[in-house]
Amino acid sequence: VSATAEQRQRALKFLAEREGDVLSLTEDLVRAPSENPPGDETAPLAVVQEALARYGLPEGRIVAREPHRPNLIVTIPGRRPGPHLALCGHLDTKPVGDAASLWQSDPFRPTIVNDRLYGLGSTDMKGALAAMMLAGAAFQAAESAGTLSLVFTADEERGSWYGAQLLAESDALAGVDAVLLGEPCGLLAEWDGIRIVSRGVTCFRVAVQGTQTHSSISDVLPTVNAVEAMARLMIGFREQFHPHFDEHPLCPNGPTINIGVRVSGGVGYGVVPGYAEFWTDVRTVPGMTFDVFQDDVQAALKRISDDLGGIDYELEFDERAGWIPPTELEPDDPLVRACVLAAEEVLGTAPEVTLFHGGTDASQLQGIAGIPTLASFGPGQLPLAHGANEWVQIESLGQAMRMYALIALDFCNR
Ligand SMILES: [Zn+2]
Repeated sequence: VSATAEQRQRALKFLAEREGDVLSLTEDLVRAPSENPPGDETAPLAVVQEALARYGLPEGRIVAREPHRPNLIVTIPGRRPGPHLALCGHLDTKPVGDAASLWQSDPFRPTIVNDRLYGLGSTDMKGALAAMMLAGAAFQAAESAGTLSLVFTADEERGSWYGAQLLAESDALAGVDAVLLGEPCGLLAEWDGIRIVSRGVTCFRVAVQGTQTHSSISDVLPTVNAVEAMARLMIGFREQFHPHFDEHPLCPNGPTINIGVRVSGGVGYGVVPGYAEFWTDVRTVPGMTFDVFQDDVQAALKRISDDLGGIDYELEFDERAGWIPPTELEPDDPLVRACVLAAEEVLGTAPEVTLFHGGTDASQLQGIAGIPTLASFGPGQLPLAHGANEWVQIESLGQAMRMYALIALDFCNR
């Protein structure tokens, strides 16, 4: 059974009668700061709660480790039993940070210039949240089968410990058959990919010990300059580290390796450095496992150290981001097919099915909780996120709410 023409019509009519709402709701969310760090999602949550009440939607359930780090799950029952889809987005944004002087408008005052809405979080991802709420209201009006949940998470921008990690560890999403994340799917233009791979992240430090002593005698006594040893080890690692990975059709470049995202060491003039370290982050692809990856890192470091005559080093994977797993959906997954059909109807053509370059809450929701999760299908463009003058195309907001409603109806009436 697929969604009836009548259900679809009812949903699209409901949205057409509220055409301006998705923009004004996005503006309200941009006005509600939620920079992370420091991390506090209560302001946008209040906007969400007010909108839910306005549309006659359930008030939902808050799940939180701390009161100021809320997640909200709103479950909208259909008229008959059927599949359960969740539309999910994060309430937090990256901070304005060092880019403050580069903003041409107030990041917290939504500003419209031509066909764009400027403001912090407009692309990542308050526009998607607004579209999801309207889609939820349209789903309710359409008298669909199945169940649609709206899931608003905390802390996506800083590791998800207060957010998706908590939801994945608890029973908060029990019964959900699939999740769609509304992360901005545009790379070069809006809606240029249905992104079904969420790449993983692994972060580690390599610390090198040397001989801290008076620098005047470094050529007289046997001393090791830890910074110099670290530099040789790091360059060797850059040249010789090739972790195992399986060819993946959507990830032809394999993992992305960033060596020396931070380096530190040494004391200053007059002192032979006794300690130095370099940090590395690697964006992994589906099929890679922590066990094999750890072996690869250890083997490469040992080989390079041996070649250099033996370096006193230690490897440490990050406590939180040591291994955040990659995930993927099959291209013929029902949720992917629903996205393709909705895009054909609303955009006129379906974007290619491809990867999301970054990490997403899919690592927790699928990687830990085991719920199939589509990494990114949402308004906006990823390169505009996390920097100055973030904007979203206004037309995309309306397209998002229509597609989300059609996707939900399609998925829930199977
Ligand atoms: Zn995001």
